[in-house]
Amino acid sequence: MTAPAESKLYLGLCQQIAEVRSAFKTRHLKDTKTPDEQIQEQAEGKKPLLDMQKLKIGKKLPDEFFNDLLSVLKSNEFFSRMEIDRLLANKEKINLLKLIRLVLDRDFPRLISFSSQLEIETDLVLFIGLNLSQAVLELYADTIKDKVDQENWLKGNCPVCGSYPGIEKLRRDDGKRILRCSFCGTEWYFKRIMCPFCDNEDHNSLRYFFIEEDSPTEKAAFRVDVCDKCKSYIKTVDERKLPESEKPDLYLENFNTIYLDVLAQKDGYQSPTYWMVAPSEDLLV
Ligand SMILES: [Zn+2]
Ligand SMILES: [Zn+2]
Repeated sequence: MTAPAESKLYLGLCQQIAEVRSAFKTRHLKDTKTPDEQIQEQAEGKKPLLDMQKLKIGKKLPDEFFNDLLSVLKSNEFFSRMEIDRLLANKEKINLLKLIRLVLDRDFPRLISFSSQLEIETDLVLFIGLNLSQAVLELYADTIKDKVDQENWLKGNCPVCGSYPGIEKLRRDDGKRILRCSFCGTEWYFKRIMCPFCDNEDHNSLRYFFIEEDSPTEKAAFRVDVCDKCKSYIKTVDERKLPESEKPDLYLENFNTIYLDVLAQKDGYQSPTYWMVAPSEDLLV
């Protein structure tokens, strides 16, 4: 995953997926509705809006997006041709709803046995499961994101689906810190000095680093915020340090900046959502 040629192929794959995801969302946003009984009262105990255990996902959307994914995978060389052919030959046997559930539950042992039953590489099965879950959840999240109480939520996990953030930004206009959910893509406000993973507010144990060699104009625009209390990290895009014309897409920047994950992990920090960016790195952790 870290070899330059492989990283380039992987980034290309993620860019293609981002495009089909956006088209998929545009096609379905109008006719998707999250049933009221699956939405929780956020004010009570600060629960996320969606009760993920009760969330019912129909078959139609995953089926359709699975076909979108297959056409991208066929045109990209990141996964070997042999693997893709085996996937195509076995595609009818894949229970997509079960796969989504395993990914949402982060049930790696069952994901591994699921892929060995299908005789398909676990990385590929996980890649499909992850992208299916994200595309479908993003659609549901979009239909209810207006109900998020942005001013009062201020928690480290997503106000819509409860997952941890995958990346964050400091907004250009006002420097506000905004986290982005690793699963459903919802963005929400968070305190400037606080670890989203353990709520640590002690500024002595919160710091950030960036790569000195990054080009001068973009210096420090891509950085890693770390917490020495829980040893977690999150990548941050500081929009204020980017040229005015650049509007970073956090979903893609998460893949673009895998070099920062490598550095953070070398220093002994972990991200609970890193497996979503580079699945083969720590699948079994
Ligand atoms: Zn979410
Ligand atoms: Zn922490």
